[in-house]
Amino acid sequence: MTLTVFQQEVENLSGIKLKLKINDNRSTMLSVRWETDCTRVSLHRMFLEAPQNVLDSLACYIRQEHKMISSEIKIFMENSLKKLDYSHTLDRSKLSCQGKVYNLQHLYDELNDQYFEGKVKLFITWFGKHAQLNKRSVTFGLYHHPLKLIKINRLLDNTNIPKYVINYVIFHEILHHICPSYMDEKGLHRIHSKEFKAKEESYEHFDIAHQWIKKHRVHLFAHLD
Ligand SMILES: [Zn+2]
Repeated sequence: MTLTVFQQEVENLSGIKLKLKINDNRSTMLSVRWETDCTRVSLHRMFLEAPQNVLDSLACYIRQEHKMISSEIKIFMENSLKKLDYSHTLDRSKLSCQGKVYNLQHLYDELNDQYFEGKVKLFITWFGKHAQLNKRSVTFGLYHHPLKLIKINRLLDNTNIPKYVINYVIFHEILHHICPSYMDEKGLHRIHSKEFKAKEESYEHFDIAHQWIKKHRVHLFAHLD
């Protein structure tokens, strides 16, 4: 939808003349300011592709019939966010792949070739420090969707960590790209779907990696994604 058509549509639905701004930043995806002489609306460009139910709901919010942003809008924003690509904003000079023991880029490239025909295009970097913090759970890996960036905890850059374990963590994070988490119609986050779990089991050292992690009582899934 073009901006003009979109503005007309939202004005028709809400019955209010708007000062509309379309933005491309992730911090303000939806903001409405009701001023005495006009109503200022700033929306992320994702709204140009919003389905009718989301536009209807947005119109209700703009004319203050809904006091809160509806779950329909929230689900739409959450799921659209997963499809955005902000990887061009990534400062690649800050990525670090070479560790003391493991080179993340090499591990990632091997997995990409073996499982995905080398077709997955993501970035990877270490995060955190080598020292073990006294925490009950630890995040081994993260996947940042808009930046297409996998982050692996530096604690895994250790000769005590078998290669099949760190590879499992990387593989798990790649799968977050392949099977993105989503918000279902009840507003619940679906992070590790059935499809995700089935694919995860295709990792050749899945069982032994799981056993190792269980034995070492580390919580791989403490907080992922
Ligand atoms: Zn996960």
